Amino acid sequence: MGDNVMTTNSPAIRALRASINKRDTEIERLREALAASEEREAGLTAEVAERDKPCEWLHYDHCEGKGKSDRAWHWKTSCGEVWVRSFGGPAYRGYKFCPLCGRPVVEVSE
Ligand SMILES: [Zn+2]
Repeated sequence: MGDNVMTTNSPAIRALRASINKRDTEIERLREALAASEEREAGLTAEVAERDKPCEWLHYDHCEGKGKSDRAWHWKTSCGEVWVRSFGGPAYRGYKFCPLCGRPVVEVSE
């Protein structure tokens, strides 16, 4: 008798099935929207990680043909530049960011 109720193709049953189908379609749409949102978040996370990757400044001592006092003021930066300053490096100057690429600056040694 219970089976008869479930298999009856009455207008009431058809309406209920239509309602369920409509909800299933909405659930699928929301799943896709959720996946797209998670993808955007992952993209932004990667962008922020790339932005916050520090610029490493290597104080180097390989300046051929120059005096020791000249060599003391050269840094190679991981953004591919050479920084020359006669008033000290980034830590001494209190630089928080590389003025060449804009990333947080860290001094490294060989
Ligand atoms: Zn840099």
